[in-house]
Amino acid sequence: MNRMKRVIKTSLVGVLTNLILVAFKAFVGLVSGSISIISDALNNLSDAISSIVTIVGMLLAGKKPDKKHPYGYGKIEHVSALTVGIIILGTGISLLVESAQKIIEPELAKFDVPMLIIITAGIFIKFLLGRFTKKRGEELNSDSLVASGSDALFDVLVSTATLVGALITFIFNITIDGWLGLIISALVIKTAVEIIMDSVSSIIGERVDSDLSFKIKKAVSRNKEVLGAYDLTLHQYGPERIIGSIHIEVEDKLTAREIHLLTRKISEQIFEKFGVILTIGIYATNTEKTEYAEIKQKIEKLIKKYPSILQMHGYYVDSEKKLISFDLVFDFKEKETSKLIEEIREKIAEEYPKYTVNIVLDTDFSD
Ligand SMILES: [Zn+2]
Repeated sequence: MNRMKRVIKTSLVGVLTNLILVAFKAFVGLVSGSISIISDALNNLSDAISSIVTIVGMLLAGKKPDKKHPYGYGKIEHVSALTVGIIILGTGISLLVESAQKIIEPELAKFDVPMLIIITAGIFIKFLLGRFTKKRGEELNSDSLVASGSDALFDVLVSTATLVGALITFIFNITIDGWLGLIISALVIKTAVEIIMDSVSSIIGERVDSDLSFKIKKAVSRNKEVLGAYDLTLHQYGPERIIGSIHIEVEDKLTAREIHLLTRKISEQIFEKFGVILTIGIYATNTEKTEYAEIKQKIEKLIKKYPSILQMHGYYVDSEKKLISFDLVFDFKEKETSKLIEEIREKIAEEYPKYTVNIVLDTDFSD
C-alpha cells in the first residue's frame, strides 16, 4: 500500500508539471503559429493523460479480490496502458496531418525573446522531471514510472529540436517548422504503437522472467528431499500477485505424511522469498535403481538424437504395472511433437516389449 501511494504521488508530480508545460507551450505555439511547438505541447499533454490513466489503473489494480475476480484486479494496469496507447496514437496521427499541411503551405512563425525563454525553461523542467521520475521508479520498482521517466528524458530532445527550429526562424527568418512537426508526430506515433504492443502482449500472457524462474527452481531444489524441479508455471496478475505450479521429483518410498510436510515447507519458503503462491505436484523416482537405471540410460541416449527435445524428466518405472513413464519438453519450434513421441514410444517398446510406455508432452513454460 505504501509503495502504491508513493508511485501515485510521483505520477501526480508528473501530471501537474506536464499540465503547466502544456499551458505555456500551447500559448507560445498558438501565438507564434508554430506547429512543432503545438505538437510538443500535445506530446506533453499525452504524457499527462497517460499518467492520469496509470494512476486510475493502479487504484483499480489495488482493489481487493472478490468472488467474481478472485485473482484480483492487477491486470487492469495493462488495459489502462492500452487505452493510453490508443489516445496517444490518435494525437500523433492528427499532428502528422497538420505538419504535412504546414510543409505544403509553410508559414513563418513569429517568435520573440520571452517565448524563447519559455521554451528553454520548459526543456530544463522536463529534464528535471524525467530524472526525478526515473529515479523514483527504480527505487519503487515500478516499470510504468521508469518508462514515463525515460519518455520525459526523450521529450527533452524533442523540445530541444523545437527550440533549435524557433531559433533558426528567429535569427534567419526561414522555417523548418513543418518538418520538425512531422518528426515529432512520427515519434509520438512510434511511442503509441510500442505502448499498444506491450500492453497487448502482457494481456495475452508472456513467458516469465528467466531470472525469477531460475531462482524459484533453485530455492525449491535446495530442499534435500527434492531430486529435481520441473514444469514451473507462473501466472502474473499485476506486480504483486503471482500464482504458479511446479513438479518435484522425490523418492517413491516417501510417505504421504512426509510429502505433506515437504510440500507445505516448500510453499511457505517460496511465498516468503518471492511472494509467489506455488502449488506442488509430485513425481516419484525409483529408489531401487538397479534395472531401471539401465533402461533410463538407453532412453536418454535415444532422446539425444532429437535436438528439439529440451528436457526429459519424471522418469519412473512401475514394476507391478510394467509401466515406463516420463515427460518430454519440446522446443516451441518443433511442430511434429506427437509424431516424434509416437516414434520414441515405439522404439522403446521394441526394446522392452514387456513394458507399456507412457510419454507425457510438457510445455516449455519457463526457463
Ligand atoms: Zn513434467
